[in-house]
Amino acid sequence: MSETPSEDLPRYPLILNPKAKSERGKRALNFVMQNATRFVIYATRSREESVELARELAKKGEPVVIAAGGDGTLNAVVEGLAGSRTILGVFPTGTMNVFAREMGIPFDQLKRAMEVIDAGEKKMVDLFTLNGAPFVQMAGVGFDAQVIEETTWQSKKRYGPLSYVMTGARLLRERPPKLTITTPDGQEHEGVFILVGNGSLYGGQFRFFGQADNADQLLDIVIFKESGYRMVLESLKGVARGGVDMQFPSDSMVYLQAATLRITADEPVPTEVDGELHDRATEINFARSDTKLEVFAPAEPLPSKWTDFLKMIRPW
Ligand SMILES: [Mg+2]
Repeated sequence: MSETPSEDLPRYPLILNPKAKSERGKRALNFVMQNATRFVIYATRSREESVELARELAKKGEPVVIAAGGDGTLNAVVEGLAGSRTILGVFPTGTMNVFAREMGIPFDQLKRAMEVIDAGEKKMVDLFTLNGAPFVQMAGVGFDAQVIEETTWQSKKRYGPLSYVMTGARLLRERPPKLTITTPDGQEHEGVFILVGNGSLYGGQFRFFGQADNADQLLDIVIFKESGYRMVLESLKGVARGGVDMQFPSDSMVYLQAATLRITADEPVPTEVDGELHDRATEINFARSDTKLEVFAPAEPLPSKWTDFLKMIRPW
């Protein structure tokens, strides 16, 4: 139901992708249309257009820009706002909404996400880049980017999250790339697949980077060794069977923190930022942006229907 619009409430630029095919996307579009007096709506047709729009709005000195979409749209808007003082508002309408979950922004009711923006509480978040592409939540080199690359929309529509598991299980049987990772203090590690976290969550509510804090100026890095690759396959089989056991033996992966990172590969490897494919490269550099990103987020994460549900079904 729409709220009675008020003349007193500010009107925010809102960037959205009207082509969102999911039910959630359609509901989001309805909410935005019902509350159209609160927004200046910019419907974009491509990622590039979203980046450009956000960049122009920031350049014009807009105090706030709202990104309405999944983690992909969010990443595009973040790229456009990077380096500016424009505050990001988040309307999570995707399937995962990892960044919204990380920040405690309600991701099941847009009305409540709007309340967070109107309440005006903000947090400063670190921004990092992978070969120049900004990301706010996480990035990957190798396996997970390749899974994204090779999972089709049709498969996602048909099998849901299981489609990634299916692609993953197939890819893990292929020979992995050889990656050499160099930290700023000169440490070298060998690995086959690397995940990097700004925040702690990876893929939904899964707290993968146990020590991550998105305001400590450090990246949390997990390097999978070749033996770790086999463990990933085992875990994926577990996911497919309905049970997940992510207990990795310590010699199959390395967890470290660093402000920058350099990776070289023996062949071009796919990379992803915030779940969006970036490029294939044999040299990958992670760097920290000089400016942080300011985001509307509750001081205390609000309970959501989803966390209530989790509490109900989880014994711990
Ligand atoms: Mg950090």
